[in-house]
Amino acid sequence: MAVAGPQDCADLGALREHIGDCHRCALAATRTRLVFGSGDPHARLMFIGEAPGKNEDLTGEPFVGAAGRLLDELLESIGLSRSQVFIANMVKCRPPGNRDPEESEIGTCSPFLARQIELVDPVVIATLGRFATHYVLQTTVPITALRGRLYHVGDRRVVPVFHPAAALYDQSKRGVLQDDFRRLRAVLDRADAGEGASPAGPAQLVLFDGEPS
Ligand code: URA
Repeated sequence: MAVAGPQDCADLGALREHIGDCHRCALAATRTRLVFGSGDPHARLMFIGEAPGKNEDLTGEPFVGAAGRLLDELLESIGLSRSQVFIANMVKCRPPGNRDPEESEIGTCSPFLARQIELVDPVVIATLGRFATHYVLQTTVPITALRGRLYHVGDRRVVPVFHPAAALYDQSKRGVLQDDFRRLRAVLDRADAGEGASPAGPAQLVLFDGEPS
């Protein structure tokens, strides 16, 4: 039977094949490589970034530039490595000059991300920055107001954090990001201990112990 859409892909390999040499939006004209995502295909923790940058475009791997090095450091600080998580982006091709992805590009690419989330089936999603956070939580509230809190979407826990690139330009965000990664570790540990099963239904806000700093 022919594969009709992302929903018909039974695993990440099939989904990658389905996406193929994608020309579904204009980003195809300027990209070098499509960046599908990488990591443990059944990770309990999944990160969603924004879009590939220059280094990702050249290598086909997510988060391999300066922001990626900071992400590695943050992961290490909570006892995790890249191979234990799955990392994907809102859009799979680099927007020229690292401009923001356009709504139409996100609209075209997001069904692939939606299927990646279903297939990886993480217990916890960490959204890196505004675009991923707005997509997963279906809101337009600024990331500054969303971070530092835990949300439940369906049966997944969602932890919005600043994009690591933001902390490269604004040192004051680095400490906040470190704090939010510690919170992320706590959320993962509680999930692993079977605590706080998510209620079904629309996105729900659950405060961490204490207000965000
Ligand atoms: N920034 C992102 O959002 N994703 C990457 O893969 C690299 C940088």
